Amino acid sequence: MTATHAPGLPVIEDGQLISTNPATGAEAGRVPAADEKSVIAAVDRAREAAVWWQSLGWEGRKTRLLRWRTLLVERIEELAELTRLETGKPLNDGIIEITAAVEHLDWAARHAKRVLGPRRMRTRLLLAEHVGHLEYQPFGVIGVIGPWNYPIVTPIGPISGALAAGNAIVFKPSEYTPVVGQWLVDSFAEIVPEHPVLQAVHGLGDVGGALCRAGVGKVAFTGSTATGKKVMAACAENLIPVVIEAGGKDALIVDADADVRAAAEAAVWGAMTNAGQTCIGIERAYVVEPVYDRFVAAVVEKAGKLRTGEEIGPITMPKQLEIIRDHIEDALAKGGRAVLGGADAVSPPYVSPTVLVDVPANSSEIRDETFGPTLTITKVRDAEEAIQKTNDSPYGLGGAVFGKKDAIRIARRMRTGMVAVNGTLTFVGMGNLPFGGVGESGFGRIHGEDGLREFARPKAITVRRAKSLLPAMTFERTPAQVKQIIKALRLLYGRKP
Ligand code: NDP
Repeated sequence: MTATHAPGLPVIEDGQLISTNPATGAEAGRVPAADEKSVIAAVDRAREAAVWWQSLGWEGRKTRLLRWRTLLVERIEELAELTRLETGKPLNDGIIEITAAVEHLDWAARHAKRVLGPRRMRTRLLLAEHVGHLEYQPFGVIGVIGPWNYPIVTPIGPISGALAAGNAIVFKPSEYTPVVGQWLVDSFAEIVPEHPVLQAVHGLGDVGGALCRAGVGKVAFTGSTATGKKVMAACAENLIPVVIEAGGKDALIVDADADVRAAAEAAVWGAMTNAGQTCIGIERAYVVEPVYDRFVAAVVEKAGKLRTGEEIGPITMPKQLEIIRDHIEDALAKGGRAVLGGADAVSPPYVSPTVLVDVPANSSEIRDETFGPTLTITKVRDAEEAIQKTNDSPYGLGGAVFGKKDAIRIARRMRTGMVAVNGTLTFVGMGNLPFGGVGESGFGRIHGEDGLREFARPKAITVRRAKSLLPAMTFERTPAQVKQIIKALRLLYGRKP
């Protein structure tokens, strides 16, 4: 059945959430809408499913997660096409997104036991008669709240880590992408039909709020900073821990010894892929004076070749169009110049590539997340000034540096969670690297070892293996033994370093 609604705007009708294509308004699919009661029921089911999932052990979970990975690879075109239908995202962007999701599933499945499994710790001299054991135990049920811009890889990040750690999941996809979210859940159920280890609950923001209050052990939120704060507030009521993956205003620094054409190519990709609707999208470029003119010319040449409706898909969320328009107008009103696109770039549901120069630091194009295919390029004296301007932002998600001699030194000094050197966005595709931000971009990590530990609690156990020679932790110690303890302490730790 195909109905036509206002493009991009999800509606709830007769208990169904109807999702539409942002370019055409054609129905992408419908899913049952949840309410508070059904969210609580889903979490209750998940709690039981988690016990079964944990009983499978590391190997049982690994096998099933790798089977799910294989299913995603087998059906990559089908899933990319569904994503195109629901978000308007070009097919190839969907393929690349799934590629990253597959990498994270594979890595989490293969490494969970090594990172989280039980291990014996080296003994400590003062408690030599005790052995330490450490393991990381799952929370039980993790609530995952996801955005619409990358409806596959953003939820798969926390979902892969949390499942590999032994948790069950209740997933609230964005109201703009419930169909893709449900596809992920249904495909997992083909591999794991026994229990509802991964479930979806659909609806608007209130369903996300209900999930925070439904008795989950932890919430992994990906979305805007403003909503992240609401999620934290809801979780605070019951002291539920959260991971917040929020927005960004990522910068690219181009140093004097950079390959300028490669930097321009990466800047255009980093800024314009997914029509700029990328949390780690490059929104600002700081370019040192000697290479500035060449960089601007190369960016304009390359971005000018991108076609709206082809490489540049529609803006998924209609209200974002106003924000993008406001940012461009604000930049121009404050003295910025458009060297590509500009005032007329917004033509709903599309925005054509826009490159702005001479944009003052107080304009919204520099300060706030634009989330469209726009890039500001600012000339700087040297890398030092570029770092200072990059870090002058409440956000701190990712970033990039192009250069040779000092590139890694510059990357280290950027106040962000990730930086790509001589590339853009690449860190999101490596399963062994943690992903997350600082400041208004959030906290906590998904992906890699840190992303696995995020979904498990460290559990420390000590086991006595002999009688204590220097009994400290007992009322039955003697004054002589206390003297011996002081002597041992002086011997071990009393010398000045
Ligand atoms: P939103 O913050 O609008 O929504 C994110 C999710 O939270 C959605 O599922 C939304 O549901 C839900 N939600 C809304 N209100 C509440 C509430 N009160 N309580 C609980 N959940 C709620 O973000 P967008 O979907 O617009 O995504 C774009 C944003 O996500 C950008 O800022 C982008 O930078 C950021 N992002 C960050 C990433 C990262 O890894 N750091 C990755 C990708 C995106 P509903 O849609 O139904 O309103």
